[in-house]
Amino acid sequence: MKRVLITGAAGFLGSHLCDRFIKEGFYVIGMDNLITGDQKNIEHLFKLENFEFYHHDVTKFVHVPGKLDYILHFASPASPIDYLKIPIQTLKVGALGTHNLLGLAKEKNARILIASTSEVYGDPLVHPQSEDYYGNVSTIGPRGVYDEAKRFMESITMAYHRFHGLETRIARIFNTYGPRMRLNDGRVIPAFIGQALRGEDLTVFGDGSQTRSFCYVDDQIEGIFRLLMSDYVEPVNIGNPEEITILDFAEEIIRLTQTDQKIVFKPLPVDDPMQRQPDISRAIEVLNWSPKVERAEGMKITYEYFKSLDKSELLKKEH
Ligand code: NAD
Ligand code: UDP
Repeated sequence: MKRVLITGAAGFLGSHLCDRFIKEGFYVIGMDNLITGDQKNIEHLFKLENFEFYHHDVTKFVHVPGKLDYILHFASPASPIDYLKIPIQTLKVGALGTHNLLGLAKEKNARILIASTSEVYGDPLVHPQSEDYYGNVSTIGPRGVYDEAKRFMESITMAYHRFHGLETRIARIFNTYGPRMRLNDGRVIPAFIGQALRGEDLTVFGDGSQTRSFCYVDDQIEGIFRLLMSDYVEPVNIGNPEEITILDFAEEIIRLTQTDQKIVFKPLPVDDPMQRQPDISRAIEVLNWSPKVERAEGMKITYEYFKSLDKSELLKKEH
């Protein structure tokens, strides 16, 4: 049986990855320190014989007994309010955590895929963003703790590939959504749906003309799985190119939730990227992958998920 280690396993993407690898017949070791994740996301796997959970902080030495074929390093705070609240941990998990996992991959002779991000492009001056764009990141801005940790992560991963001949893969993940996002994690989709469900006004930051492109989680997981199994070493964008302004998106949420909430405008956070849209030509070419789930369909499933949560969950605000 192939053995895979997934860090950040109790988080949004990590928990869906655990499900996918279990479905593919792998022995899955999930690792997480639960700093932004929730054990509930993976509790359904605890009874399985081919699943194990390690409660561990990957910035500390990582030890896993037995062989490992694959490692997916997804541990990291991922929402702006999380990484602004825990900036040092964010830098550490991207830098020290990645170093530990590359060391483990080398020891076990395992292939490792790291979760990079569209944030390596910063506030991009090129649109849409293709992998050969170097990005526009402020090293000292508040978001720099995340963006630069991820840029370092890519650099050290390529160094391990070139210097040690390690088998590495780099996924540049664009905004992804779906069930198991934390309702209070501050990202725009849980924020807007939470506000609509609580009967509050929807808070659009800035004038809402900034754009994002949202990928449904099942598409994202399929792209990551294909990348891991491919022989492609350079970074690959994985996201949905369907772009929308945040203001239009807020209106879409009001229609979806059939509420009559008002939209209110709040200041735009520092360094909030104005435009984001993946160029996925590379993923189409090397992975034969493109997203399949339309936003309307994915948002309906996501809304049903949030509606099904316990009322106490709904009342927890992001701050
Ligand atoms: P998430 O917060 O739901 O999951 C991250 C998980 O990592 C959490 O369970 C958290 O407890 C765990 N974690 C954090 N620091 C840790 C540490 N030091 N040791 C062990 N576990 C630790 O976030 P997510 O949306 O699932 O994101 C997962 C990964 O994908 C992150 O690396 C993120 O940067 C990347 N990513 C996500 C998106 C997205 O849209 N969801 C976009 C780009 C990149
Ligand atoms: N946003 C917003 N209102 C909110 C939360 C977010 O207008 O309540 C905006 C945010 O300023 C950004 C976009 O929505 O322009 C996406 O934010 P998110 O935190 O989801 O992810 P980002 O892509 O910025 O990391």
